[in-house]
Amino acid sequence: MKLPGFSITSPLPSTQMKYIFVTGGVVSSLGKGLAAASLGTLLERRGLKVALQKLDPYLNVDPGTMNPFQHGEVYVLADGAETDLDLGHYERFTQCVLARPNNVTSGQVYETVLSKERRGDYLGKTVQVIPHITDEIKTCIRRFGLSSEVDVLITEIGGTTGDIEGLPFLEAIRQFILEVGGGNAMIMHVTLIPFIKAAGELKTKPTQQSVAKLREIGLQPQVLICRSEMPIDEEARQKLSLYCNIPREAVIEACDVEHTIYEFPLHLQSEGLDSFVCKVLGFQTPEPAMADWRKFVQRVINPKKRVRVAIVGKYIELQDAYKSIYESLTHAGASHDCGIDLVLVDAENMEREGAEKYLQGVAGILIPGGFGDRGVEGKILAAKYSRESRTPYLGLCLGMQIATIEFARNVCGFENANSTEFDPATAYPVIAILEAQLNVTHKGASMRLGTCPSVIQKNTLAHQVYGRTEIQERHRHRYEFNMRYREEMEKRGFIVSATSPEGTLAELIELQNHPWFLACQFHPEFQSKPNAPHPLFRGFISACLAHQD
Ligand code: GLN
Repeated sequence: MKLPGFSITSPLPSTQMKYIFVTGGVVSSLGKGLAAASLGTLLERRGLKVALQKLDPYLNVDPGTMNPFQHGEVYVLADGAETDLDLGHYERFTQCVLARPNNVTSGQVYETVLSKERRGDYLGKTVQVIPHITDEIKTCIRRFGLSSEVDVLITEIGGTTGDIEGLPFLEAIRQFILEVGGGNAMIMHVTLIPFIKAAGELKTKPTQQSVAKLREIGLQPQVLICRSEMPIDEEARQKLSLYCNIPREAVIEACDVEHTIYEFPLHLQSEGLDSFVCKVLGFQTPEPAMADWRKFVQRVINPKKRVRVAIVGKYIELQDAYKSIYESLTHAGASHDCGIDLVLVDAENMEREGAEKYLQGVAGILIPGGFGDRGVEGKILAAKYSRESRTPYLGLCLGMQIATIEFARNVCGFENANSTEFDPATAYPVIAILEAQLNVTHKGASMRLGTCPSVIQKNTLAHQVYGRTEIQERHRHRYEFNMRYREEMEKRGFIVSATSPEGTLAELIELQNHPWFLACQFHPEFQSKPNAPHPLFRGFISACLAHQD
């Protein structure tokens, strides 16, 4: 017999895999993703095999169609999935290899359920949020239990407790915990303890209410991660413990980290988070091995030198739009014992006021990826400034296309050369739509996406930087360098230094007669880690230091 609203859709995982659900309370942007990733770091460094997953309640099938103002950066996985930027934290903070199932949205869940309905899989039944949508959500969680590779799955739920669209996910978790049994699953609630200046006090009420909201739907968190501007005193901790029904040791303070997000795991460790989690889930492990992580954090906090790097983009006012790029620069900087002073330049301002004003004195210029023509002419000015002043240049995706257009116009004399993305009628389409894209009409998940191999030519800067000829990098684009112009441009000092294995697509370009000018059609920022900086970023910072000296 089945209980109403409760159904088991596939066999329970046979191993004693454990589950940690991360929910958010009070407000968004509390760093749930960082908290999930940091717990991942600590558990992995205790020797556990960790997987991380994000469930997003919005109806977009993936964030690939959202603009950075809505969503921040779109993080691309090796298999080409366009995902939430929290997955970037997961990959940077752990050794997890992520793929499409690691980011599930309501849109995907509904898409699957509706296509099953059309196929006739539910014939005769009324298709409902409970149990059909919740069953599908549970299937997405349980998928990880089928592999013996994982000891613990950390599943972050996007949004904030109380959001209507998050309810099916929370209901699915309630059912799931009932199915796997309390000792095999737990909930970590990331919440805000605001400081009210007028009262001079930290307030616990919003947290009490958001936990009450969870309990209303049958969920009792075991851990509270309390984000606040200042340390939380013992009295507030006791109060949170009492009112939220959570052991005092599981009320974890997470005061704003002062220097770098990479301190977060260390802070959570000192608050006892990982030992509490292991106690609840029955893991017997040594303390986490954090020595190399601690060293990295020290280098980020106290670098011996500093270097000024400009990023010329159109979303520079948004902290999240170029997240992986900022992180990659931090990793590369730390490997040179060097702090990065970012000079963030709005490409549209540069378009109006010229490059000199913004770029004079910077040690390096980075042009990130992007879509649409807003700010493009400003970025072209930046590329010209870099070429002429011999300032190191790193172009990423659109940044490579920009460098190509600039060289075509100003060195080769191709008047008004452009990308057909910005000027479909240009006489010199040096960047043009990929042949495979010609008949693409759907915008979702239809770019050239994910990891593709490239081959680097010897005796190039690219080869020197990578130290090998075969590379695998992640892509996300529709346009490419138009190989028709290769010969003519190469005669003038432009070099296509890497291509796809068949030689048809340009993957890296560089300039002769320039100390360090490299640009790639792919996104190296998705493969940089704290103690394993990406060679392009590492090489770029090294060139910036040389230029500065
Ligand atoms: N808009 C360009 C293209 O589609 C560049 C994309 C990007 O920078 N990710 O090719």
